[in-house]
Amino acid sequence: MLSMKISADLHTHSIASGHAYSTIQEMITFAKTNKIKTLAITEHGYAMPDACHEYYYHNLCSLSREMFGVNLIFGCEANILDYTGRIDLSDVAAQQCDIIIASLHSRCIKPGTENENTEAIIGAMKNKNVSIIGHPDDGRYKLNYEEVVKNAAKYNVFIELNSNSMDGSSYRQNSEENMTEILKLCKKHKVMISIGSDAHVAYHIGNFKNAEYLINKTRFPKELILNCHSDLLKNIGRN
Ligand SMILES: [Zn+2]
Ligand SMILES: [Zn+2]
Repeated sequence: MLSMKISADLHTHSIASGHAYSTIQEMITFAKTNKIKTLAITEHGYAMPDACHEYYYHNLCSLSREMFGVNLIFGCEANILDYTGRIDLSDVAAQQCDIIIASLHSRCIKPGTENENTEAIIGAMKNKNVSIIGHPDDGRYKLNYEEVVKNAAKYNVFIELNSNSMDGSSYRQNSEENMTEILKLCKKHKVMISIGSDAHVAYHIGNFKNAEYLINKTRFPKELILNCHSDLLKNIGRN
């Protein structure tokens, strides 16, 4: 069993993401009440039809990185746009972000062949602004998981364990099976993972039930979980 409570949530969305429902203030209040010490608010990149404008990111420097005792990380869940791995976030916007997740979303890129999808992920990993690959478990996008994990090691990128993927309401497919395989490969290649709730409403922040289940099932080592390294979390952020 995972002996320590995960007190960092590294993937959430506020109302700035359009199809999400809580303000930053509401999210911080919920995090504080539920003993989440570090909260990353990672809005959708602007290729998502209802996401915030690029200027939202330009102004992130105006937000405090600590409120009510909660450490705050502000960033973006950028959209991978093509099979070369190009993302929607500009370098100017990226410079204001503390953390950037890159994900495949069906609104922004159609599933290609296994090779095309894998190239898209590896291309995004090569982007120096990208720190995390979001929900690689989505079975709609076939991937060569060994190649993805090996390249995560090569480019020093975290692989996300997205707790929401295994929720019944998620569009993603075969997440449990796929993520089990990915976690085994991360263990084998010593690649660190990042756990996020992908909350789109405040009361889902810190909901790691599914993630903890998989961590225990695969006996995944705590040392390879970014959320458990407060030293590394402190260094996230370029502001
Ligand atoms: Zn996503
Ligand atoms: Zn998300």
